[in-house]
Amino acid sequence: MIEQGTSQQRGNNLDPWYHHYAQRTSGLAASEVRALFAVASRPEVVSLAGGMPFVSALPQDLVSGAMERVMREQGAVALQYGSGQGVPALREQILEVMALEGISGSADDVIVTTGSQHALELFSKLFIDPGDVVLAEGPSYVTAMVIFKSYQAEVDHVPSDEHGLIPEALREHIARLKSAGRRVKFLYTVPTFHNPAGVTLTWERRLEILEIARQNDILVLEDNPYGLLYFDQKPPAAMRSVEKDGVVYLGTFSKTLAPGFRVGWALAPHAIREKLILANEAAVLSPSSFSQLVISEYLKDADWRGQIDTFRGVYRERKEAMISALEEHLPELSWTNPNGGFYVWVTLPPHLDSKAMLPRAVTELVAYTPGTAFFADGSGAQNIRLSFCYPTPENIRVGVRRLANVIGGEQDL
Ligand code: PMP
Repeated sequence: MIEQGTSQQRGNNLDPWYHHYAQRTSGLAASEVRALFAVASRPEVVSLAGGMPFVSALPQDLVSGAMERVMREQGAVALQYGSGQGVPALREQILEVMALEGISGSADDVIVTTGSQHALELFSKLFIDPGDVVLAEGPSYVTAMVIFKSYQAEVDHVPSDEHGLIPEALREHIARLKSAGRRVKFLYTVPTFHNPAGVTLTWERRLEILEIARQNDILVLEDNPYGLLYFDQKPPAAMRSVEKDGVVYLGTFSKTLAPGFRVGWALAPHAIREKLILANEAAVLSPSSFSQLVISEYLKDADWRGQIDTFRGVYRERKEAMISALEEHLPELSWTNPNGGFYVWVTLPPHLDSKAMLPRAVTELVAYTPGTAFFADGSGAQNIRLSFCYPTPENIRVGVRRLANVIGGEQDL
């Protein structure tokens, strides 16, 4: 008989299998704000919390046309298992997408994954032993940290400012960790239109950080879902464009096409690529043949570059709506003003706590993500992340006005 543990052993936890879970799953607890987000999905709430792309800006007939052609011409292949590395034709097309950000490489070194999220998972499985340290910007992408922690890594946040990760701070952190005998495996970075900070690493800093990583034998995991969604100036080229051996690059179709396909990719140095393919096969046998072939057909046939321009226009308008609403309603606060991507990072007055304030915000029919979600050590209480990707410009203005009421109310308390 399976021992399920008495209720006393389980403490207050009602799950009878509580004691059977692997230790590494302890970080997989639902976040405290999750329940609130369920409330926040009610239609009367303006949600500035999620990071959902505005897929309605994609003409659906382009996708259904591609689907029909795939089923007509390659139906049996689309419905079958495929290569663990991904469809060769799509991997060639991914090279064209990456070329827009200055990257050149071979389709042999591209691995298609189930969204870049799965590439983060596979990479972590390959590289993290319990107790390893992963360096990341402070703040950092929340769901990458969940993965790192599930492999029992410690996330060490390196401070960043409006120009991205600070090289000098990176040097100091590495020196401190090394002298404490810690194993630093890799630097996880979102250099362009950072989630959640909205900032972009300058070209000079990219070069300096690559040099620091080289000197210290640290791999760089460059995660770049937003690079093509710039508003005015093109951002600096990807870090992978100058460093092939020390960078594993992650891309995705989630923001430039649609996340429902769940298709992303990794571009990795040869040996790492082999391991990633084996890990991909072990995890999913092969990424979805159907999704890959539909995307490949779409890229072949549609004006996908023009469609990315359309997305850029949509998000530019929404970002401008958010910044002008912040200027109008919350002029006493400071925030980042991104040149692309989905997010604005707002700094609150020191006496406010973004997590504590959230229930009141939801009562006032506006939701945001508290800054604490983006730090492994629970700091960030003075920040909030506002997403402008999904709500209409009008709703963004309403949402920021409501937020200003909430903040004003907190100050009066
Ligand atoms: N990295 C970052 C920084 C992200 O913001 C996201 C999506 N929010 C992902 C990775 C995962 O994207 P996907 O799995 O849809 O490619």
